[in-house]
Amino acid sequence: MIRENCERIMEEIEKACQRAGRRPEEVRLLAATKTRTPDEIREAYSIGIRLFGENRVQEAREKIPQLKDLEGAEWHMIGHLQTNKVKYAVELFNCIETLDRKELVDELLKRMERKGVESMKLLVEVKLSPEESKHGCSPEKVEELLEYTLQFPQLKVLGFMTVPPYLENPEEVRPFFRELRQVRDRMERVFGREFPELSMGMSHDFPVAVEEGATIVRIGTALFGPRSK
Ligand SMILES: *Cc1c(COP(=O)(O)O)cnc(C)c1O
Repeated sequence: MIRENCERIMEEIEKACQRAGRRPEEVRLLAATKTRTPDEIREAYSIGIRLFGENRVQEAREKIPQLKDLEGAEWHMIGHLQTNKVKYAVELFNCIETLDRKELVDELLKRMERKGVESMKLLVEVKLSPEESKHGCSPEKVEELLEYTLQFPQLKVLGFMTVPPYLENPEEVRPFFRELRQVRDRMERVFGREFPELSMGMSHDFPVAVEEGATIVRIGTALFGPRSK
């Protein structure tokens, strides 16, 4: 079933790229693997998926070490990262998509040095809706956070990530995707460098995200089926 689901998703990505005049190679599918078993993750790997995202460090600590044999698999942290979990995160993940505060930068530097981790890829998570429950850096504070983070060459900021509110009609999510792209464009001008990655779009709204410039779409249920917990 994962294979058929994946084919359908890739077709949707291609169609969205056609509509937007983009090349499908610009978009990577990240399998959001929270609550999925190592066997389900292996199945996704077997059909060619190489990008995986976990939400919780504790769950990642249980699963990722069991999957060390999956050559070329890349693990992204896509959930809120607590400061006291950074010490594990620097060894588990290839990229942290949820950088949202300076404190995390300081802790990353400290733990990377202690563990001999030479570099870490990062995306800045931007909070574009006012809901209290959402994490992320406010758009007004992104410049300050970047200015701080970019001092440290071992921290490779590749772009931005957002989790928009869940809205039934994906068209209503479009303004959030567009705003993330605009934040990116603005920061490219401010810092005179590129931030190529935009991680945005989930199962029900990824085609719209691709039309708006997503380079990583994070897909759980559309790939693996409904979550049971
Ligand atoms: C669970 C999750 C996803 C995937 O959600 P689906 O709706 O199952 O595709 C994407 N991003 C984040 C941050 C998630 O927690």
